[in-house]
Formats: sequence, C-alpha cells, structure tokens
Amino acid sequence: MIPFLDLKEINAQYQQQLKEACSRVIDSGWYIMGNELEAFETEFAAYCGTRFAVGVANGLDALTLTLRAWKELGKLQAGDEVIVPANTYIASILAITENSLTPVLVEPDEDTYNLCPFKTKAAITSKTKAILPVHLYGLISPMPELMDIAAKHDLLVLEDCAQSHGAQINDKKCGNWGHAAGFSFYPGKNLGALGDAGAVTTNDPELASILKALRNYGSHKKYENSYQGVNSRLDEIQAAMLSIKLKYLDAETEQRRKVAQAYLTKIINPLIKLPRVEKQGAHVWHLFTIEVDNRDNLVSFLNEQGIQTLVHYPIPPHTQKAYEGFFEGEYPITEKIHKNILSLPLSPIMGSKEVDAVVIALNCYK
Ligand SMILES: *Cc1c(COP(=O)(O)O)cnc(C)c1O
Repeated sequence: MIPFLDLKEINAQYQQQLKEACSRVIDSGWYIMGNELEAFETEFAAYCGTRFAVGVANGLDALTLTLRAWKELGKLQAGDEVIVPANTYIASILAITENSLTPVLVEPDEDTYNLCPFKTKAAITSKTKAILPVHLYGLISPMPELMDIAAKHDLLVLEDCAQSHGAQINDKKCGNWGHAAGFSFYPGKNLGALGDAGAVTTNDPELASILKALRNYGSHKKYENSYQGVNSRLDEIQAAMLSIKLKYLDAETEQRRKVAQAYLTKIINPLIKLPRVEKQGAHVWHLFTIEVDNRDNLVSFLNEQGIQTLVHYPIPPHTQKAYEGFFEGEYPITEKIHKNILSLPLSPIMGSKEVDAVVIALNCYK
C-alpha cells in the first residue's frame, strides 16, 4: 500500500527530539504563553523574513483574527468586499464571512489554480477593500502583480499561506508579500504540529500588537481588556514541536520537490493533465494535483494497485450548504477543477520505488 501521506513515519524521523521537547515542557510546569511560544514566533518570523509572527490556535483563526484586527484598526468595516479565489479551501471564505465582510469569489487561473492579476483587477468595485490570495497546493500566487494592483487601489492584502510554507518569488517568501499572512500548522501541512496551531506574519507592529491581544481575550495586560477578544493561543507543547520541525522544513521541501519533479517528467499519459512547471522556489508541493476526466475511474484503478489518492476538494465553497446566494454553474472553471482534480501520494519520506510505482500505474491507465 502506498499511503497518501504517512504522518507517523514523517514524525518518527524526529521522535527523539520531539519527545525530549515534550518532557522539557511537561517538567517546566508552564504550558501556555511562555518561552516556547516566544522562541517559535521569533524563529518563524526569521524564516519568513518578517518582523513579526504571532502564534494562534489554528490557520482559520490566523485569517479570521487578522481581518478582525483590521476592523479594530478602522481599516475594514462590515460589508466591505474581499476578493478571494472561488476554488479555495472553505476556511479562507469562513474567515471573511465570520467578520461580516463580503467574499467576492473570483475564478482562478486554470493552470496555476491561483488568483491571476487580470481577473482580480476586473473584480474590483468601489466596495473592495482587501484581496485574500491563497497559495493553493503550495504554489505562491503572482504576488508582485497582486501587490501592484493592491497599491493602486489602496487595498489590504492577506495571504493564505496554509499550504505554502517557504514558497517564494525572487527570494522573498510567502507571508512577507502581503500586509499580513495566515499560516496553518495543522499536522498534515508542510510545517505541521502534533495538533492544531497557526500563526500570522506581518511587518506591521500595530497589527501584531492587536493580534496578541485578540488571541488572549482582547487583553494586553492581565485582567485589562481592550477588545472583545477570543481564546486562540498556540500552546507551549505545540510551539516546541514546531521549533523542531521548522529546522527540517527546507530539507523536507527539497524532498517534496524531488518527488514532484519525478512525477512531472515521468508521467506521460495524454488522459492526465499535470500541474504547470513553475520557477524553482515558487512551489513547495503541499499537494501534487492532476486533472482527469472520469476521476472515479482513476481513483478505483489506483486503489486496486494499492495507491491511495485524495481529492482537494470535492465540493466548491459556493455550492456548499453553508453558503447561499450562489448558483451551480456560476463559477465554471472552479466547478471543473473540483470535478477533475486528484492529489497523488507525496511526502518528504516517499522513496523512489514508491514514486515509480505511482508513475507506472498512471502510465498504464487507459
Ligand atoms: C488548512 C487550511 C486552512 C485552515 O487551517 P486550520 O489550521 O486547519 O484551521 C486555511 N486555508 C487553507 C488554504 C488551508 O489549506
């Protein structure tokens, strides 16, 4: 069996260090908002190249609390429009609607699955106040162009980096392009904790400061509350796990790139559309997605060969029951992607034998 992603095996590589760090935190008697979190925030900001990283409980909160902080700062208000790719994972959109902002769904580029400058520009109205580019599957969006558009129209940019830790353009990493960025450290992400965790990166000291209050009941100082905040903290054990995993992130990304490169060069089947080859550095291959008609056929064919695949994602946000006011057929590119997309096994510990088995199976598929 070739698993889609074997988290147990991935973390087993570091088990000694992870267990030692766990013991250290247990023995410290201090479990929330302490040295481990501060250390990880410093390390992660340095990794991204930003002035600040603020740890929160998960990726959804990273996005939600950033938009909330901009409301507190008077930069956004209820009803403002936020441009977001229609084919994103629903969390990007939940962060917008949770803040009573209006998501404006924009069709992605068919080859990169990300926002493109042309369609983004076309979606801007007098109510548009922000753009939320999602670096889907690990490929960074065209940030230089999107930042130009944002500057011209005085828009805020919040990057959704939940799938793209370390992806970069011109040596500048994701998380350092927009005015702020939300990261998830859900266990299956490229930088994964051993539980839920997330962070916001930014170069804006005022934003970082408000976020630090919002995640902790709206409080900068114990028992004094400046905002109606929430409880969304990144606890010490997870911060300690992340400090260890962060040291190996770039090496793991290189392993992911090797697998992806093998898939890109060796899969030759006209029935299968491969992802577009990108400039070195732009893609961190959180997922290797192909497109195929009659996806169910291929899924069961691969399953028979012992190859596990997943679909990211089967139902587009605008046709989910959670959201009303959209209709099927409204976003045809998005709907086609959701119908045809399929993620192949890919992990930093996948061996060449496994990669070749996937390649052979796909090349045999008729
Ligand atoms: C995983 C993910 C999130 C949410 O992160 P959580 O930590 O699970 O809350 C947001 N956006 C995208 C694109 C994601 O893949």
